[in-house]
Amino acid sequence: MSKIKVKTPLVELDGDEMTRVIWKEIKDRFIFPYLDIQLEYYDLGVEYRDKTDDQVTTDSANAIKKHGVGVKCATITPNADRVVEYKLKQEWKSPNGTIRAILDGTVFRKPIIIKNIPAAVNSWKKPIVIGRHAYGDIYKDIEMVIDEPGKVELVYTTSDGKEKQRSLVNEYKGAGVAMAMHNLDKSINSFAKACFNFAISEKIPIWFATKDTISKKYHAKFRAIFDVMAKEEEDNLKKAGITYSYYLIDDAVAQMMKHEGGMLWALMNYDGDVMSDMVASGFGSLGLMTSVLVSPDGKYEYEAAHGTVTRHYRRYQKGEKTSTNSVASIFAWTGALAKRGELDGTPDLVQFARKLEDAIVETIEGGEMTKDLVSLSTAPNKKELETVEFLQAVQKKLDSKLK
Ligand code: NAP
Ligand code: MG
Repeated sequence: MSKIKVKTPLVELDGDEMTRVIWKEIKDRFIFPYLDIQLEYYDLGVEYRDKTDDQVTTDSANAIKKHGVGVKCATITPNADRVVEYKLKQEWKSPNGTIRAILDGTVFRKPIIIKNIPAAVNSWKKPIVIGRHAYGDIYKDIEMVIDEPGKVELVYTTSDGKEKQRSLVNEYKGAGVAMAMHNLDKSINSFAKACFNFAISEKIPIWFATKDTISKKYHAKFRAIFDVMAKEEEDNLKKAGITYSYYLIDDAVAQMMKHEGGMLWALMNYDGDVMSDMVASGFGSLGLMTSVLVSPDGKYEYEAAHGTVTRHYRRYQKGEKTSTNSVASIFAWTGALAKRGELDGTPDLVQFARKLEDAIVETIEGGEMTKDLVSLSTAPNKKELETVEFLQAVQKKLDSKLK
């Protein structure tokens, strides 16, 4: 069989620990044998990040900006223990945070649906994708503990020193607390744009939910920006055959529990934080959760939502057997390849990516899976495979599909 030609370089970001081990296996088994591909490689393993004073992370983000699509392995975000373990110069910042800032991107988390791994909510049959606004609100708030009677005010002074607005937050007769938070039109706009890009590209409807009946200025601003963008994107929504809907957040939550899924649920920062954990655990395993970073100007970076699976890596280092789930990491590759194929107009590449995804799903539905899925699966003859055994099973399935 001749290899499929990938027209544009794909940006590859390598990572750490168990996922780095799996990463190489994926390339050797599913990429190089089938694709004539130019990978623009950046080593985001923590040692090389340290060696380059984290310049490699910035370079990789700029490469995604240039070429449009990247695929990323999970990486260590160093803490004090890691600084000792790897003899690092400092606690480098989270690579994901750095890349997100450079691309001004929004992260979408999407579960992989497998028939014999039932969701915790009976009605959920299709992925519920969560888009979380990752700037501001309580994550950049100012808080105060009030310990004697007095008043707290919110004051807005313009740059030229004019006091424009002063509002009483509360007149305290005794102890209490106070908080102020903020957001920016520019950031909300980027978030909304990334949500529309993603939903249009995936052809799934957008639900946006806030509490604008109570927060008539703050939440209402988010809604207004989304509503305006929905008007601007009307033609693109129509072309993709999808709709935009606004819901009050409590209504959205209530409906979600009876819905089959299959939408992008766009949420403010705190709501997205909470709901993404609920949805992830509702769909089963971290090993089945993928994640894609989308920028407002349509750049895409795909990865698994889980980390470097350190506990398994410790066993691997001792030469012990591991059963680490590689599904989300492979889906990071298929997501990136399919997007590359879509942008380059090479449908055979898109088709290859879809076949690889089908091979994975069919392997698990046929009863062969890693340990984390065994307790979740309702397959009658389920069998626990080691890390590499699972990859071999998928390879066998893929080859039979490609014949
Ligand atoms: P983790 O790597 O996601 O693993 C936490 C636990 O979840 C594992 O010990 C394992 O449970 C289970 N798990 C996660 N992924 C799995 C998979 N593919 N197959 C089977 N089981 C899986 O989170 P962590 O241990 O908190 O973090 C480890 C490192 O990853 C940290 O250095 C952190 O900075 C980094 N991290 C990176 C990213 C990223 O790059 N996007 C995200 C999160 C964390 P059992 O041990 O019970 O089997
Ligand atoms: Mg959370």
